[in-house]
Amino acid sequence: MASKRVVCLGLVAVFLAPLLSGCFGVEELPIVEQKGIPGGLTLACLDDSKYTSMVLEIDYAPGYQPDTSSTNLLLQRLESVCNKPLGINVIFTETNFLNNGDWSASDIREASEDTKSVSPRDGSVLTWQFMFPSGMYEDESVLGVAVDASTVALFKDTIDDAENIFRRPSAEKIENSVLVHEAGHLLGLVNLVYTSPADHEDPDHPGHSNNEDSVMYWAVESASISNFFDNELPTEFDSDDIADLEGLADGSIAISSQLWSP
Ligand SMILES: [Zn+2]
Repeated sequence: MASKRVVCLGLVAVFLAPLLSGCFGVEELPIVEQKGIPGGLTLACLDDSKYTSMVLEIDYAPGYQPDTSSTNLLLQRLESVCNKPLGINVIFTETNFLNNGDWSASDIREASEDTKSVSPRDGSVLTWQFMFPSGMYEDESVLGVAVDASTVALFKDTIDDAENIFRRPSAEKIENSVLVHEAGHLLGLVNLVYTSPADHEDPDHPGHSNNEDSVMYWAVESASISNFFDNELPTEFDSDDIADLEGLADGSIAISSQLWSP
């Protein structure tokens, strides 16, 4: 098996500096080349010249189906930023993942390969896969992870544990926010495949927002989430996040590492 490292990244740091674990698991070449990095299919989502529709493939282990509030929110948020004139469909599939225990980024990538129904880019359809396996990530503080340009995993066991005794915030609300947060990484937020003209990346948590009202705030995917929010969690991209996506869509912000460009 290829060696791996798991990084929370600023883009340049991806291949150079293994940092603390967290939101992104990035494999050594050549898998990175094939699958891209989180943000590698940002333009495929923001632009409609080739990919006119999109599928959100929700693959869950028995008993691990996400709340409909989470997938509805995911759909709303992606509909609000991605240009898909023929629509975005959500497809749910109960799935037997072979791994039930500790997950590494490469385990997730392998499971994705085994379970995804189609290629991420199939004709005019862009497919992003969201996996809900049993078990936890190897770093048990991680609630969700984006492992390549089209693959996310959420760890419901860890999310349930992150709910505090007062259920404020509840596991459902945490799942809502983490799911949108990881989709935000697939959209390249924050500064994964570009450099924002706005100063909104948290220098201590690369790839994340410094605004606690943004769903891309760094604490959203951490098991310590209950320490930072007492009930209301952010579920929306903030104005800087949205401005970044608009700038990427209209070409006014340069973008790199794309698997597809118009
Ligand atoms: Zn993150």
